[in-house]
Amino acid sequence: MSGALSRRNFLRGRFAARRPLLRPPWAVAEADFAHLCSRCGDCGGACPTRIIVAGDGGYPTLDFGRGECSFCTACVAACPSGALQRQAEQPPWSLQATIGDSCLARQRVECRVCGDLCAAAAIRFVPQRGGPSLPLLDAARCTGCGACVAPCPVRAIVVAEVRDAC
Ligand code: SF4
Ligand code: SF4
Ligand code: SF4
Repeated sequence: MSGALSRRNFLRGRFAARRPLLRPPWAVAEADFAHLCSRCGDCGGACPTRIIVAGDGGYPTLDFGRGECSFCTACVAACPSGALQRQAEQPPWSLQATIGDSCLARQRVECRVCGDLCAAAAIRFVPQRGGPSLPLLDAARCTGCGACVAPCPVRAIVVAEVRDAC
């Protein structure tokens, strides 16, 4: 086995052993992703919001600190390897936002930034006695677009796979 190949397999083994990273929308199952993705970077180059970055081993991952996914499908169209594939009616992913305890409103400081920016109206604010209204996330509405992540002044929002969300 060549040095380059063994390094590639090592990276893939390490990659598979870790908790899944956030992949671009319409990525194939994580178990297949490392075998199909050639790490060409074409998806990242096509993304208008520049949220696809090179992650561990050079494989594409998402950085919602840079912006949101508009579900434009440009990354899928640009992918030459089949690592991103969109079937008809297939949802882009199972990502969802969660709001952590560092949320300003939960710390009794008025803030409604996330609710103002959520195009899906997945965050509403519930009045509470003696303090600011609290954000409540409607999981059924949340698309996992990440638009609420970067604008949150305290970065209290995390977007993760539904099964990993806490
Ligand atoms: S669907 Fe569009 S905005 Fe979303 S990651 Fe792909 S290229 Fe970027
Ligand atoms: S933007 Fe952040 S701090 Fe403000 S209400 Fe939403 S989660 Fe809380
Ligand atoms: S991830 Fe998108 S849809 Fe979900 S709460 Fe944030 S802005 Fe709204």
